[in-house]
Amino acid sequence: MDLNEARQGLKSAGRRLLEHDLTWGNDGNLSVRLNHDRYLITASGTRLGELGDDDFVECSFNGPLSGSGKPSKETPMHRAVYEQRPEIRAVLHASPFYSTLVACTDMPIPADLFVEDMYYIERVARVAYFHPGSPELGEAVREQAREANILLLENHGVLVYDTSIGEALMGLQTLEMVCRMAITARSAGLELRSLPAATVADFLDNSGYRPRREWSQ
Ligand SMILES: [Zn+2]
Repeated sequence: MDLNEARQGLKSAGRRLLEHDLTWGNDGNLSVRLNHDRYLITASGTRLGELGDDDFVECSFNGPLSGSGKPSKETPMHRAVYEQRPEIRAVLHASPFYSTLVACTDMPIPADLFVEDMYYIERVARVAYFHPGSPELGEAVREQAREANILLLENHGVLVYDTSIGEALMGLQTLEMVCRMAITARSAGLELRSLPAATVADFLDNSGYRPRREWSQ
């Protein structure tokens, strides 16, 4: 992906996050892979809903390229995902209300309610709390990066990554919707009706909804 295409893709993704209440204030950071060992990430202190052409920093796995500005301090998480998962093209980090509320509890996230839920929420891994931007958080993400495409960062927010910006956005939107649904149902005293495990497995293997994800374990 060339630089201009990468910038446009991230600007558009940032606007969508704001429109859908998936970011607030200067919360969150976004990146896209440029090639096998470089990625473009939002700069430190940017607002995702109003990203301009100067709000991005090109980085290699060794750090920002010289003269390209100061990247988001949460760069270690992004780099860890790109290093562990060569097929991943986009990484989104934000703290949307319902997902972050669940990340502040031990509540499980159902993956057997509706179509997008079964596909995108098939696997969610939890990462223990470490301070934002710390090497410890980067290492914790590195350890879990192969387990799932959605990492719930406890008492912090979420990290969602996929083979395109569009698929990563779908993952993030679906996660927020499922968390909102689960919490709303609980508040209203409604019991959610789960699909049977065999139906979920059949959907994932045979429905042709999206290419079946392959997990290493
Ligand atoms: Zn953060």
